[in-house]
Amino acid sequence: MQALDELIERAANAIDAADNERDLEQLRVTYLGKKGEVTALLKGLGRLPAEERPAAGQAINVAKARLEERLETRRSALNSAQLGARIAEETIDVTLPGRRRGQGGVHPHTQTMQRIETIFRNAGYGVATGPEVETEYYNFEALNIPAHHPARAMHDTFYLEGGAYLLRTHTSPVQARVMEQSQPPIRIICPGKVFRVDSDMTHSPMFHQVEGLVVDRDISFADLKGTVIEFLRVFFEADLKVRFRPSFFPFTEPSAEVDVECVHCRGAGCRVCSQSGWLEVMGCGMVHPRVLEMSGIDAETYTGFAFGFGVDRLSMLYYSVDDLRLFYDNDLRFLAQFR
Ligand SMILES: [Zn+2]
Repeated sequence: MQALDELIERAANAIDAADNERDLEQLRVTYLGKKGEVTALLKGLGRLPAEERPAAGQAINVAKARLEERLETRRSALNSAQLGARIAEETIDVTLPGRRRGQGGVHPHTQTMQRIETIFRNAGYGVATGPEVETEYYNFEALNIPAHHPARAMHDTFYLEGGAYLLRTHTSPVQARVMEQSQPPIRIICPGKVFRVDSDMTHSPMFHQVEGLVVDRDISFADLKGTVIEFLRVFFEADLKVRFRPSFFPFTEPSAEVDVECVHCRGAGCRVCSQSGWLEVMGCGMVHPRVLEMSGIDAETYTGFAFGFGVDRLSMLYYSVDDLRLFYDNDLRFLAQFR
């Protein structure tokens, strides 16, 4: 009986000291398992005199029940401690700011294009589009650039296999298509991608152009000047000086290049304008009568003007970006600034 008391004392202490489920299970096996110490005592009952067996058996069973209860108590204490620890560890601080998911933005060129479209729509222009894969006829001939004309050499053209088709080198073919299909008054802009074999700091093989075309009775160079000056004023949000220099384009006559006062130095001279104080921004002119006639418009009755400019160049000037390639590198650190 004394050995039993000691055994219970020892087992109880060990159970209370166990600090995890595995140790606890080990203790159960040690004392109450098939080969456990308490089980061994029960098996040893047979060796006792018959009159002592009932009392001893009862005492051992009581001891066994007490140990089982002790194990269960300790087990549930460990479980709730573990649960408490997990809850404490997994606590969510609902006052923390949420993780934001970056939202995409509109590409700066697209933003520029949209601004340009808005400016012209407000002035009563329609927006016309056409195919990027063109025929030589629309890209050159209909615009008074016949085969072997030196102007063709200036357009470093991407020809498609077979040579019948090409990637348009300007948006002017859209003008030819519109004039073929409609009669004056015509007042449109043609925004879109154009392609040339060219790639450096200020040129990319694909770039964006907007061309404008107005054909009606009594359209004069004064109308062209007024339109161009007003557009540049609204686009750059500044009263910049504008000048027209005589130039040559096969599809306009007379033709002019348009310079705008440098948006960076306001004419004082800087790196952007190569110290000249002026920036070349577009070409324009009165539509060549031959171009009107080729598209089926009576050049005796109608006159028109056309202008064209690079959207990429206007974007660079408007946003003060000095390397065109930045717009096409898809570097989010750059693009995110325009959101
Ligand atoms: Zn300048």
